[in-house]
Amino acid sequence: QPETLPAALRAAATAHADLPAVVDGDTTLSFRDLHAAVRDTARGYVALGLVPGDTVCLWAPNSWEWVVAGLAVSYAGGVLVPVNTRYRGEEVADVVERSGARLCVVADGFLGRSQVAELRAAAAERGTRGDAGGHALPGLDRVAAVVGIGDTTADGTTAFSSLGDLGAAVEDIDAVADAVRPDDIADILFTSGTTGRSKGVLSTHGQTLAAARVWTRTCRVTEQDRYLVISPFFHSYGYKVGIVASLVSGCALHPMATFDAEEALATIQRERLTIVPGAPTIFHSLLESPAFATTDTSSLRLANMGSASIPPRLIERMLGELTFELVIPAFGMTECVVATMCRPGDPDEVIATTNGRAVEGLEMRVVDPATGEVCEAGSAGEIQLRGAMVMQGYLDDPVATAEAIDPDGWLHTGDVGTVDAEGNMRITDRLKDMYVSGGFNVYPAEVEAALARLDGVVESAVVGVPDERMGEVGKAFVIQREGADLTQEQVVAFLRDRIANFKVPRHVELVPDLPRNASHKVLKPELRARATTKDD
Ligand code: ATP
Ligand code: MG
Repeated sequence: QPETLPAALRAAATAHADLPAVVDGDTTLSFRDLHAAVRDTARGYVALGLVPGDTVCLWAPNSWEWVVAGLAVSYAGGVLVPVNTRYRGEEVADVVERSGARLCVVADGFLGRSQVAELRAAAAERGTRGDAGGHALPGLDRVAAVVGIGDTTADGTTAFSSLGDLGAAVEDIDAVADAVRPDDIADILFTSGTTGRSKGVLSTHGQTLAAARVWTRTCRVTEQDRYLVISPFFHSYGYKVGIVASLVSGCALHPMATFDAEEALATIQRERLTIVPGAPTIFHSLLESPAFATTDTSSLRLANMGSASIPPRLIERMLGELTFELVIPAFGMTECVVATMCRPGDPDEVIATTNGRAVEGLEMRVVDPATGEVCEAGSAGEIQLRGAMVMQGYLDDPVATAEAIDPDGWLHTGDVGTVDAEGNMRITDRLKDMYVSGGFNVYPAEVEAALARLDGVVESAVVGVPDERMGEVGKAFVIQREGADLTQEQVVAFLRDRIANFKVPRHVELVPDLPRNASHKVLKPELRARATTKDD
């Protein structure tokens, strides 16, 4: 079994040679094509000065070019650092600088005139060199070249399409690929930044492949599968459980650059897609789309969900209306990729109410955050994980790494949950989202789950806000279905009948949408800030 990404790519090009690896609009690459394109691109990187161990930033939307550009970094022995597509000037400069990138591969339009200016400004602010000229990003002087993906690349960049010619003289690219070791760092993926500043997570080739294999094995992915990738490639869910999963299983990837329910439905029908992973809100959007009624979704085999808690009613609708054969809830995080998963054949009850058991090779325990003692089965505490898949550490942050991984190797996830006697895990909430109202702990996720049962509620988010008498009280932001006519009083009355009074939010605001990050997660810090600065 190949233990490095280059070896896995080569194995896929042999085992599934003529099968589609990536299908993106009019472009289809077979695994053999993919291997060839990756080799050419890797040669180009080497010609531009990349040496093994160098980091490469990749800043582009989901596309076939991303797949080639990303795998080529591994093939040339580099470390892949995908950059969030929502980032702009200074944020990108920050990632480029912190990761010490040697090359930046950037999509057209991302590095337009204004962004070049922003990068310049950001660099000048740091007091570094203001203008490097030529091919270098201003001020970030380790960067040897910027490669532009697309037709009309910005000034001072090397065109992605010219890498093949550029690298023609580089002979031994396969020898470079062969020199990559399973324990070499393969990638630095950033966390979603839901609770604070995003952290870069270091993983080895062996770890990245192991994560993809655990996932494809559990979901029984085969070379017959066609897989819609909505999650961004810069996130572990899109990269490891997307691109790398296709390498180890032979399935075809259908990358989506930006999520659009109508377009997703059209692709599902046209390409007879079988797998759709994503955050719960994605499936909501598919079900609520006007195009849904006229779309043939009968090819759908498997949905995999994670990232946020999954309402049981949504699972029912996915099986019934969206005609999935199987829904596999999962729990994971950048620091460990996949941690728990339901298994095909699990009872409906387990699928509807849990995130399944720890994946093969991973230990899981629940610890009382107050005492540090391991909890009994069924009681809530912090979920902790240990095993070969747990990250090497955070980029350039030994303090955060030591806080996350204790001396015994347990990863402190910051998530609260319970594990029952069968080993099935239920997420209660994030430690950081919990608030204390009148001396009682409130887990917003529990309140949101109760709200999901109110007719007319599409989604909600609850945060704790300061309160003179209670310390903190809840504030619910509620999105209602079109045509529904909910009032704040109705929402409160509904909850009063269902959950303890101290959990019932004192404030309710009906909103058209919620602030989200690129992983489609609600940004609670933003809501908290909004709730405390606004009168209500
Ligand atoms: P940051 O660490 O930067 O604050 P983040 O934790 O959202 O952001 P990710 O690594 O993308 O970054 O997400 C992992 C987190 O997502 C988990 O720690 C957990 O809180 C949440 N999550 C993942 N799967 C589930 C799930 N099935 N149910 C509830 N929450 C989930
Ligand atoms: Mg996190």
